[in-house]
Amino acid sequence: MIDLTRQRCLNHAQREAAARCPECGHFYCRECIAEHEGRVVCAKCLTKLASASGRDTGGKALPALALPCVAAFLFIWMCFFGLGQALLVLPDAFHSGEFWQGESREEE
Ligand SMILES: [Zn+2]
Ligand SMILES: [Zn+2]
Repeated sequence: MIDLTRQRCLNHAQREAAARCPECGHFYCRECIAEHEGRVVCAKCLTKLASASGRDTGGKALPALALPCVAAFLFIWMCFFGLGQALLVLPDAFHSGEFWQGESREEE
């Protein structure tokens, strides 16, 4: 007694499909679809379309997450840069000074 013409919602297997999403082509129930610019699309495609056109939902998440990462990266980079500068300066000071006088350091 299964009616094959009657489609079910992709998210809710028990529920009858109310509309078909034109973006992904899947069937969804009334709860899983929303109207976007005159078209009826599913929630997944709605956020995708909204972030692509309006940048209302998806656009904010990335910069808010990326900023601390960039700040942390810059901080670590500056630490390594400072360490590298210190290592570059130190042997020069040792050479010019009398620190290495006791030890024999041959260049060739
Ligand atoms: Zn969809
Ligand atoms: Zn549903």
